[in-house]
Amino acid sequence: MLEIKNLHVKLEDEEKQILKGVDLKVEAGKVHAIMGPNGSGKSTLSYVLSGRDGYEVTEGSAELEGEDILELEPEERAAAGMFLAFQYPVEIPGVGNMTFLRTAVNAQRKARGEEELSASDFLKEVRAKAKTLKIDAEMLKRPVNVGFSGGEKKRNEILQMAMLEPKLCILDETDSGLDVDAMKLVADGVNALRDEGRGFLVITHYQRLLDHIKPDVVHILANGRIVKTGGPELALEVENNGYAGILAEEA
Ligand code: ADP
Ligand code: MG
Ligand code: MG
Repeated sequence: MLEIKNLHVKLEDEEKQILKGVDLKVEAGKVHAIMGPNGSGKSTLSYVLSGRDGYEVTEGSAELEGEDILELEPEERAAAGMFLAFQYPVEIPGVGNMTFLRTAVNAQRKARGEEELSASDFLKEVRAKAKTLKIDAEMLKRPVNVGFSGGEKKRNEILQMAMLEPKLCILDETDSGLDVDAMKLVADGVNALRDEGRGFLVITHYQRLLDHIKPDVVHILANGRIVKTGGPELALEVENNGYAGILAEEA
C-alpha cells in the first residue's frame, strides 16, 4: 500500500535535516503506529506525505500502490486514495461543512471514474455517518471547523475520512487535546473504517490511543529515523518506561 524508502527531508529554507532515512512499509489491512518523542519528525513525515509546502525531499522515495506520490500535487494524492487527519485541522471560513464534504466526495469519485452521488444519497450517507460520530446537524451547516472545539474538529476529520473512503489513512496526533470520551469516539470511527483493502498510519505521542485502536505494528521514530519496530507490546514498553530506555539501547 505505502512504501517509504530511505526518506530524507529538510526544511526548504534552512539546512536543518529533519528526516534522515525513514524506511516504512504499510500493508493493506494493517494498522501501523508511529510513536516518538516530541520533535522527532512525526508531523514532518505526515506533512511530506500530504505534499505540504516548505519541505524538501533530498533523498529517498514514497510510493502508494507502486505510484511515486512525492511528485503529485496534494489534490492528486487525495484522488489517489490518501487521506490525512492533521494534528491541527484547518478552519475554512465561508465554506459550509456539508458543501465542503460533498465537493470533496464528488471530486474523489470523479477521479476514480465513478458517478457523482445524488444530493439525496449524499445527505443520507453524511447524516448516518455524522450520527455515529455524534456530530449534530447544526455542525454540518457551519463553516468547516470554524469555532469547533478541539474534539469537534477531530471528529469532523474522521467524518471526512469516512465519507472519502481512502485507501491509506494517516492520522497525526488525532488524540492530542481530546478527553477520554472524544478519543473513544474518534477511535470507534477509525475502527469502523478498518478493512482488508485499507492501510492506516497512526501517529501518536502517547500510548493511550492505541488502547482503542489496536495496531498491528509499532514503530519508534527518534531523531528523524525509525529506531525500533515491534508489535503492540512496544507501545506498552513506551507507556511504562518512556523513550529513554529504547533510545539508550539504540545508541
Ligand atoms: P514531532 O511531530 O515528532 O513532534 P515535527 O515533525 O513537528 O516533530 O518536528 C521535527 C523537528 O523539525 C523539530 O525540531 C521542529 O522544531 C522542526 N521543524 C519542523 N517544521 C519546522 C518549520 N516549519 N520550521 C522550523 N522548524 C521546524
Ligand atoms: Mg510535536
Ligand atoms: Mg507532531
